Amino acid sequence: MISVSAKPKVFGHLLLEVIRSNRCVACGSCASICPVDAISLIDGIPKLSGKCTACGSCYLSCPRVEYDFAGLEEGTLGRRRNPGEAVNGIILGAYAVRSLRTDVLEHAQDGGAVTSVLLSLLNKNSGAIMAGRDKKKGWFPIPVLARDEKTIIGCAGTKYTSTTMLLALKEAEGGDLDSVSFVGTPCQIHALRRRQQQKKDNTLAVGLFCMETFDYDRLMAYLMEQGVDPGKVSKFEIRSGKFIARMGVDAPFEVKIRRLKELSRPCCRVCQDYTSELADLSMGNIGSPEGWSTVLVRSEKGRAALNAAEKAGLVEVKSLSDYPPGMSLVDKLADMKKRENRGKPLDQ
Ligand SMILES: Cc1cc2nc3c(=O)[nH]c(=O)nc-3n(C[C@H](O)[C@H](O)[C@H](O)COP(=O)(O)OP(=O)(O)OC[C@H]3O[C@@H](n4cnc5c(N)ncnc54)[C@H](O)[C@@H]3O)c2cc1C
Repeated sequence: MISVSAKPKVFGHLLLEVIRSNRCVACGSCASICPVDAISLIDGIPKLSGKCTACGSCYLSCPRVEYDFAGLEEGTLGRRRNPGEAVNGIILGAYAVRSLRTDVLEHAQDGGAVTSVLLSLLNKNSGAIMAGRDKKKGWFPIPVLARDEKTIIGCAGTKYTSTTMLLALKEAEGGDLDSVSFVGTPCQIHALRRRQQQKKDNTLAVGLFCMETFDYDRLMAYLMEQGVDPGKVSKFEIRSGKFIARMGVDAPFEVKIRRLKELSRPCCRVCQDYTSELADLSMGNIGSPEGWSTVLVRSEKGRAALNAAEKAGLVEVKSLSDYPPGMSLVDKLADMKKRENRGKPLDQ
């Protein structure tokens, strides 16, 4: 009997299962891995712009198709989580971290842990992929491949909307880099790990905590309706259940975060990962005192990167258990995200 191997799923499947069903996170993974450059992101939507060779790489690198998450975790972090790790995944250590450099703290969102780790790994053959801002569009995030301190520090701070981060990996592959660090939201880290299953690389994954991202145009329109000029905002923050826009010496604009639910991207409403469970290092602010970053170490590679930043005198590192409720607050929010988004239809 002749055995017929199953045909790979291709872009047409992505169109049906992900793009047209509002699950696409617009990370750019499909376009970044296509070997014949047949996929482009137009206004954040993947489109077939060249001749598809039906290799299936785009489907296999997508973070929003159905796939074996536990298998990906094992392939990435060396084992599957045990029942006690159901809420937040594999964690080797939990810390409160703060930069020791004033130039970093001036630009950072919280304790500047992300920026400090990127700085400590910087050398002439390394690069860091992070989200910068499109100067023409104010707060619109763009993927940036940085190779110097000034660019890394300039990209610090949170943009609460999303961008095609994986496209910068393609740029990195085309150059002379020996190592790359990649910063992303949980869905972007899933995409990175799916991509690494096909295209092995030694990228360090620095994942951010994330409850949701907002639709850029809708968020900006909402702010303008409220009399807030996004061009005058120096920092956006989410703190104590409020979304805050800080504008220099003027009084900040504040609104309860739950009132902004309808501005979140529909694709976020099925995500069950709050703390970037597949990253080498996961970073947020929840659980740590104001001005510090919470850092979860998930792999030996992540541990080495945090140790390097500490050894270089870039950060101070304390145990998160010194700051109760610390980790139990992280667990609470991660559990809340899982429960809220489990089995939720995308049209809500
Ligand atoms: C959309 C979003 C939602 C978040 N929600 C939460 C939350 O609910 N709870 C919580 O504790 N923390 C959340 N965070 C993480 C938090 O805002 C800080 O990024 C984190 O505490 C690290 O602070 P830091 O001072 O160490 O980072 P910094 O040193 O300021 O560095 C931040 C890094 O993140 C990169 N970055 C910023 N925005 C994006 C983006 N949109 N996509 C990819 N990379 C980006 C920057 O380029 C920079 O490299 C969220 C982050 C994002 C992007």
